[in-house]
Amino acid sequence: MIADTKPAPSGRPAVATPPPLPSPADPEGRRWVAPHVAELPFSGIRKFFDIVATRKDVISLGVGEPDFNTPWNVREAAMYSLERGATHYTSNRGDPALCAAIAQYVKTHFGGDYDPQREVLVTVGVSEALDLAMRAVVRPGDEVLYHEPCFVSYAPTIRMAGGIPVCVETGVADSFRLTRAMLEAAVTPRTRALLLNFPCNPTGAVLSAADVADIADFCVAHDLLLISDEIYAELTYAAPHVSFASVPALRDRLVLLHGMSKAWAMTGFRIGYACAPAAVVENMMKLHQYSIMCAPTTGQRAAAEALARGDSAVAEMVAEYDRRRHFLIASFREMGLPCHTPAGAFYAFPGITGTGLSSQEFAMRLLDEHGVAAIPGDAFGPSGAGFIRCAYATSMPHLREAMSRLADFVAKLRK
Ligand code: PMP
Repeated sequence: MIADTKPAPSGRPAVATPPPLPSPADPEGRRWVAPHVAELPFSGIRKFFDIVATRKDVISLGVGEPDFNTPWNVREAAMYSLERGATHYTSNRGDPALCAAIAQYVKTHFGGDYDPQREVLVTVGVSEALDLAMRAVVRPGDEVLYHEPCFVSYAPTIRMAGGIPVCVETGVADSFRLTRAMLEAAVTPRTRALLLNFPCNPTGAVLSAADVADIADFCVAHDLLLISDEIYAELTYAAPHVSFASVPALRDRLVLLHGMSKAWAMTGFRIGYACAPAAVVENMMKLHQYSIMCAPTTGQRAAAEALARGDSAVAEMVAEYDRRRHFLIASFREMGLPCHTPAGAFYAFPGITGTGLSSQEFAMRLLDEHGVAAIPGDAFGPSGAGFIRCAYATSMPHLREAMSRLADFVAKLRK
């Protein structure tokens, strides 16, 4: 039989067209997805958001996002920038005025000294900065230490960069603090970096100045890079935040991640940044340049205003979070749910094992039967089992109603 031939495009020799393959039963196109991506879990928070989105009566303590509007001067700066035609790309590294404002802020608020032209990179939220940092430094098979319970993206981000996530569990007995002894037990010759988040999502734990010094010594002793996500730095209630950027011994081994989403209530502006030694920033910049180009221009203008003139608005929001924090902790304890005192961020992490339910069962029934959304603690790693995360980034009237419904639920379980 004569082969069915196509005319040769652009001078290539004519080839026989192979018979079409039988189409596999794969209407969703699953065969196209790379296995290492298919293996990644979805965020444990997603399921709850999907349910909350379908219901009208739910009070959500689930979202890690401020209920406040972005301070007015910051919104105004964004609008003026649009009026003045700032609708173009900025430098890949970030608008030089914003890089300078970041270096200034990190100096005055965190005690770190960074060259705005070589050691600062503006990113699309801390999320992008974290991904870039991992991809820039992790070699295939490197181990990266991190602590659990932690922000849902840590282990997947390490994996996406080809690294092996190695978790160190923190517990309620130590108020979810991370100590050098815990890290010493987990470090190996393959450990490349340590990823930290204090104040911590979801536990609200913070580190003392002594903890910071100990962990810094640990990183030096084992020649590790420290990637410190300090996105909740401004939201502390007991003592001021101690930044790893203030430790001179970490100068050549720290990637500081920080951003505008939490303290300035700017989640939608999508601005974060990294401060790090020049070669690390330069290589994070390459990845950023090829995948993102630059962070949103309007957001960058707004961020510069927030960093320069946002302190009083932040202080007002922190005072309100603190008021809510006290109310929430007292309410949990009153209804018999033990709750360690979170000293930072805007999350409470009460224990629910006394109710006889797992975190998942507790959270699902609380949502279904009482219309309150809280996140099961094991969404933040297995060591979060037995807890629920309740964000107090929601108004006092909502919190009062949520606590009253929660008290009803707990009382019902005890009957
Ligand atoms: N790190 C932590 C610990 C967070 O809780 C969050 C947001 N929930 C982020 C990073 C990401 O924040 P963004 O990308 O909005 O800056």
